[in-house]
Amino acid sequence: STGDIKILLLENVNQTAVEILTEQGYQVEFHKTSLDDETLISKIKDVHAIGIRSKTKLTEKILKHAKNLVTIGCFCIGTNQVDLEYAAKIGVAVFNSPFSNSRSVAELVMAEIVALARQIGDRSIELHTGTWNKVSNKCWEVRGKTLGIIGYGHIGAQLSVLAEAFGMRVLYYDIVTIMALGSARQVSTLDELLSKSDFVTCHVPETPETKNLLSFPQFAAMKDGSYVINASRGTVIDIPALIQAIKVGKIAGAALDVYPHEPPKNGAGLFVDNLNPWISDLVSLPNVILTPHIGGSTEEAQSAIGVEVATALFRYINEGNSVGSVNFPEVSLRSLGYDQEKTVRVLYIHHNVPGVLKTVNNILSDHNIEKQYSDSQGEIAYLMADISNVNQSDIKDIYDQLNATEAKISIRLLY
Ligand code: NAD
Repeated sequence: STGDIKILLLENVNQTAVEILTEQGYQVEFHKTSLDDETLISKIKDVHAIGIRSKTKLTEKILKHAKNLVTIGCFCIGTNQVDLEYAAKIGVAVFNSPFSNSRSVAELVMAEIVALARQIGDRSIELHTGTWNKVSNKCWEVRGKTLGIIGYGHIGAQLSVLAEAFGMRVLYYDIVTIMALGSARQVSTLDELLSKSDFVTCHVPETPETKNLLSFPQFAAMKDGSYVINASRGTVIDIPALIQAIKVGKIAGAALDVYPHEPPKNGAGLFVDNLNPWISDLVSLPNVILTPHIGGSTEEAQSAIGVEVATALFRYINEGNSVGSVNFPEVSLRSLGYDQEKTVRVLYIHHNVPGVLKTVNNILSDHNIEKQYSDSQGEIAYLMADISNVNQSDIKDIYDQLNATEAKISIRLLY
């Protein structure tokens, strides 16, 4: 029953998560900080779910003590603090929250478009340091200008709507064909986008193809006096090429929120271990806005993360629904009402080897299989089946038989 489910929430994850999981009837233990390894091991032993942010490292060494663990929630975007492969191997599904902060990023970029067009960053620094410098030369309205969006996903599409509300024309380039919002228009080549846009903004993932997506040839292809924005990933823009394009006056300004190497914590400069060697050049340029990866850093995004991850956790615990998991086959079935009398939902996580479905279906074949779905990812496979016309002793029998199968990693029966 849900009252037996134990959840450990660390690192001050958002209160929305505590509320949602408590409402489910689970026993929720909440800590403001991360735990040292010894305490973590002693607590992880009997919990069914753990919620963390980036500080808690869930390595194999820690996870092998987790005897009852069913799922892990990363209340953030990144998941490299968790050994995802090992978690999958022991049948633990991991969830994160990739899209809760899309709107926050889009709003930041909208602000930057106006700030670059009006040179707000420079005027503010001047006045902070004692200089009144009222200028209109090369300051523009954004109305009627063209915004070129590279990558029309969650963020790019949000931004498209905001920019049109400002009276901008929107072009976008993406490797897949995507339905335009409003009056935006997809173009078929990056060059077309670059040659027609007054502002170019990047919203692509970090992949080998997007590394230095904007470099010397791309800046050369842009309109004279255009602007560049990057709030995606630091590898997407070749910064030395950008610096040169600004120095020769080709590019009139830039806003960067992400960098090839970012300091691990607040208080440091961008000169990280000599890895961003161009930094002194960059900071000396006019109309360059630099922000410390704050695109998604808002109160709203934090609470949206709490809701999104907590919801993924209880759906997986209560229904076995793994849609959105980062390390696991994505499986869901519309509810048959497995919580009704005489029905059971079988959740069977197993090694992805030949012959398993035959064995499982042999076990289930005496009963009425209403629905069944299975999927695999690498070495792990996950089968979900809704069975009707079963009584308590059938359920025990199904459990015992599945438990004895060789390919089994873990089993849960919901009834
Ligand atoms: P998304 O997956 O929803 O959209 C990305 C889009 O880029 C997709 O439509 C995809 O087809 C397209 N794409 C992929 N490769 C491409 C290529 N080579 N050329 C053109 N298009 C390509 O992602 P999203 O949520 O919109 O996020 C976009 C980026 O923003 C990601 O890199 C993400 O890490 C970053 N991000 C940054 C912050 C921040 O704080 N600055 C916050 C959230 C996300």
